[in-house]
Amino acid sequence: MKLLNDKALWRAAAYVDGSWIAQGEQGSRPLFNPSTGERLADIPQLGAGQTREAIEAAHAALPAWRASTAKERAIILRRWFDLIVANSDDLARIIVLEEGKPFAEAKGEIAYAASFVEWFAEEAKRVKGDVMAGTEPGRRIVTLKEPIGVCAAITPWNFPAAMITRKAAPALGAGCTMVVKPAEQTPLTAFALAELAERAGVPAGVLNIVTGQARTIGAELTGNPLVRKITFTGSTEVGRILIAQSAATIKKTSMELGGNAPFLVFDDADVDQAVAGLIATKYRNTGQACISANRIYVQDGIYDAFVAALASAVARLKVGDGFEEGVQQGPLIDDDAVTKVEAHIADAVGKGAKVAQGARRHSRGGLFFEPTVLIDVTQDMLICREETFGPVAPVVRFSDEAEAIRLANDTEFGLAAYLFSRDAERIWRVAAALESGMVGINTGAISNEVAPFGGVKQSGLGREGSIYGIDEYLETKYLAWHGA
Ligand code: ADP
Repeated sequence: MKLLNDKALWRAAAYVDGSWIAQGEQGSRPLFNPSTGERLADIPQLGAGQTREAIEAAHAALPAWRASTAKERAIILRRWFDLIVANSDDLARIIVLEEGKPFAEAKGEIAYAASFVEWFAEEAKRVKGDVMAGTEPGRRIVTLKEPIGVCAAITPWNFPAAMITRKAAPALGAGCTMVVKPAEQTPLTAFALAELAERAGVPAGVLNIVTGQARTIGAELTGNPLVRKITFTGSTEVGRILIAQSAATIKKTSMELGGNAPFLVFDDADVDQAVAGLIATKYRNTGQACISANRIYVQDGIYDAFVAALASAVARLKVGDGFEEGVQQGPLIDDDAVTKVEAHIADAVGKGAKVAQGARRHSRGGLFFEPTVLIDVTQDMLICREETFGPVAPVVRFSDEAEAIRLANDTEFGLAAYLFSRDAERIWRVAAALESGMVGINTGAISNEVAPFGGVKQSGLGREGSIYGIDEYLETKYLAWHGA
């Protein structure tokens, strides 16, 4: 790939036990650029047997890796972080090519992805147990934190780098080994990260990347008793399947699943701040983020001003290929994504919503869609029930706080929520009442490595990032110590 400074980062091979595997048991599959349709590479399709080999490699690498000191692991992770940062332009180019997001956003993702590696290099050294007084004389209660063992990660295409590092860094830091199955749409970013991990000194077998048919690989990862933990980011539908498949071998699971984020704008909000917050969460990555605002609830008194400001800001968003100067919105990921956006718009308009901006395929053709604002939306429309995963802001009018909370919580999901207000008492009240794992208050930007990311209800189990993230990869062992 001529675009890259370091050509060796362009790998079209899986990575198992420190070796690059170009031949899949199930052949290969072409990978296309969603912006141009260009064929980028042929990706090996590993089968169940090769996935088993990766799991066995991770199992074989476990004793030495878990026996290394946290400091030794931290030094390797820190080198991985440095290499990711040093190669951020190339990594971002790979993301633009296979995922389609604008280059500036891709660079932002690489900084975000790297931040987890830096953070967990630090946190790895702070893992600690406790010593407690016993219940009888001469006894002590000692707890140890131990790595859970071989972990499997299944990751999505929308953040091809960050969703891997947010899982692999705490796992490796804790002393676990890992097999990663990246999304079909974005394997190249995963391979490049593995190449850098190898250069950083991650030993063979500690981090493995397998590509191929999701169902085949997923069945092996969830069914194999050597795997002790499944960590997944993706749809609730697939999360449910993985939990069910993991039940037979009682695996620990972390699930970061779908959202249906409400975005509440109260009369006392700052209109410009609310519009800027919505643009940040709604149109980033063409609306393809699980914490993207999906339903916009705006109070009567501010509704007209908010809608006018939003429509004019959205009309100015520049759509195009991720490498074009100043582009703010790339293509959607595939045909199904465009079809879903169209179906949600058609359903809303059919039930009485009005188009304030966009609502059509973009004149560029392909997978491009106009940034869209719908108004007079109501709760019964599909767009309020399901995650749209596209560049559409549906605006619903409400009159009082209780109604806003009821509408916001009227969903089986509970990942992110946003609220805009300048009344501190209202902020506390509403933030406490919202059924979600994360609440953005007067901001649409909530993700960073220091904060705990995760959902409630059917949006998931567990938290990633933050001081809590490494716990997902640790078990607590209790020593009942007589004579201590
Ligand atoms: P999205 O709609 O974002 O593509 P998915 O949940 O379908 O979300 O995909 C997220 C990840 O889950 C991808 O890596 C995909 O390949 C994987 N996946 C999809 N179906 C299965 C399955 N049945 N078993 C294991 N992994 C799966």
